[in-house]
Amino acid sequence: MTPQEAKIREDICVLAKSLYDRGYGCGSSGNVSVMTDDGMIVSPTNSCMGRLDPARLSLVGRDGAHLAGDKPSKEAFLHLAMYQERPEMTSVVHLHATHSVAVACLAEIDPEDVLPPITAYYVMRIGKLPLVPYFPPGDMTLANAVRETAKHHHAMLLANHGPVVAGKSLENAVYAAEELEETAKLFLMLRGERTRFLTQAQVADLAVRFPG
Ligand SMILES: [Zn+2]
Repeated sequence: MTPQEAKIREDICVLAKSLYDRGYGCGSSGNVSVMTDDGMIVSPTNSCMGRLDPARLSLVGRDGAHLAGDKPSKEAFLHLAMYQERPEMTSVVHLHATHSVAVACLAEIDPEDVLPPITAYYVMRIGKLPLVPYFPPGDMTLANAVRETAKHHHAMLLANHGPVVAGKSLENAVYAAEELEETAKLFLMLRGERTRFLTQAQVADLAVRFPG
């Protein structure tokens, strides 16, 4: 194993534990991956994000073949679908975080863009957040739906399930997933209150100031 791969494995475990310790996942929910030249390193099936072992993380080929390590998460195909459409992304985080899942269950949300522009950092890290329709876990139609949505979005919310967020680095994917969960929490806190969201002009200005 190269020193770079060892560092990636260590970083996945440290950041996954950080997510778990702050309540972004429970039980064996949530999975984190990084794409390398040798394949995708991803958390194993039935593993807890709080107790990942760098040596036992799964290595999966871009075609989904299990190459090394423990058996990969059943949701590894969600990550692969994102990488297939967005080769510039090197990391994907998928969570069952409480507030994001709560929003993913609401009847009256816009499936084109689930959350309003509450803060500048949400707009900069997530931007638009489409809703992917519900499919049962492991159903390959879910992978197809994620792949289709990934053509235009690096972040999406799976209905009654949770977010899938990609980043150009592991840190960026984690930060974006955190920003999404905190924004979902704010959105739920503000429901029923008269609220000033960012205006279209303010959102457009952010895109000019912080492109990409
Ligand atoms: Zn899931």
